[in-house]
Amino acid sequence: MTNIILFGPPGSGKGTQANLLVERLGLLHISTGDLFRYEMGNNTPLGLEAKSYIEKGELVPDSVTMGMLKNKLDANPNVKGIIFDGVPRTVAQAAILDGQLAARNAEISALIALDVEEEEIVNRLLERGKTSGRSDDQNEATIRNRIKVYHNETAPVFNFYAEKGKSFKVQGMGSIEEIAQRLADTINSL
Ligand code: AMP
Repeated sequence: MTNIILFGPPGSGKGTQANLLVERLGLLHISTGDLFRYEMGNNTPLGLEAKSYIEKGELVPDSVTMGMLKNKLDANPNVKGIIFDGVPRTVAQAAILDGQLAARNAEISALIALDVEEEEIVNRLLERGKTSGRSDDQNEATIRNRIKVYHNETAPVFNFYAEKGKSFKVQGMGSIEEIAQRLADTINSL
């Protein structure tokens, strides 16, 4: 199995690039943000719990997030590989994910981080907020908090996999196609 973590701050292009990679490589795309939005849209208990965190730009607790992820993995036992988009977002989540994959005789192949300048990110998210319908993209304070949470809680996940020789960085500025090519080159070199 090829299991890739597409990594980077909010607005770095993970979702866009994950969709392209999934088409090209025939992998399963798991976006925890999309899963939460689906639950919120259906007003499930999980969705209602997640909403209170998401609207403030905070992380949903690890136990909730990783329980939801386990259900998604259980529902897709025979996939060629997975693109993880937006997870793991804490070192604790990374350790849990490694355990969930090990239980399936699988492991993370690589973490690929999209490198994008901070001001570019804020602009991209505000722009996306005009059409995405996402309340967490429409408020600059929430956006800044998401970036702060990324630096404090999520960035260490890069080192967690770097210690295993699995972390890579890709320039995340440029056209969608240029960035897709850089990602494909990195994956082909694994
Ligand atoms: P995203 O679509 O990946 O930007 O996620 C939107 C929001 O969902 C985030 O700002 C978090 O509040 C929540 N979220 C998504 N993935 C996770 C995760 N792995 N851990 C905790 N919270 C998450």
